[in-house]
Amino acid sequence: MESVEICSMNCKSKCCKSTQPALTSNDFDRINATHQSKHWFYSIKKEENATKVISKKEGQNNCFFLSEEGLCNIYDLRPLDCELFPIFFKIEKIDKNEYSLRWLVWYCPLTEALGIDPLIENARKKIEEILEKDSEQLFEYQDAMYVSQGYKRKHFLYEERLKIRRR
Ligand code: SF4
Ligand code: SF4
Repeated sequence: MESVEICSMNCKSKCCKSTQPALTSNDFDRINATHQSKHWFYSIKKEENATKVISKKEGQNNCFFLSEEGLCNIYDLRPLDCELFPIFFKIEKIDKNEYSLRWLVWYCPLTEALGIDPLIENARKKIEEILEKDSEQLFEYQDAMYVSQGYKRKHFLYEERLKIRRR
């Protein structure tokens, strides 16, 4: 889903100035493959084995990868957390092939412009893709969301409970 224009026009990347993006190991490997600088590496806040978030720039509230112009320097490689934003999810394994998802929504100009349903549809597709390949990524995301305090920010529970089946 293309959201750059709506985002940059309406709020000048407010989310990138207020949160620390959660990282899965897949996010880390993808970004690190093209940004192998010590600055990027030292910007990682790491807790336990696979729980990482991108730290803010020193002395600022901005994400390390937010440019002076308010654009993301790694947009095509951005973490899953940023790709789904302003949708969040919590995941629970029900059995071998079944998971339940609870959606959370952070209201912002993008939510208002597009509505919640297409954003959730986009998130569901992405999650289904990941579940087919590597479900652990989603649990890493969830752990890192607690570290980044992403779940504690002001957002609202989307009252639909969804189950996803691995194909
Ligand atoms: S996702 Fe929302 S908060 Fe973030 S830049 Fe876009 S409109 Fe702003
Ligand atoms: S990685 Fe990019 S999209 Fe994500 S918070 Fe940082 S600047 Fe924003």
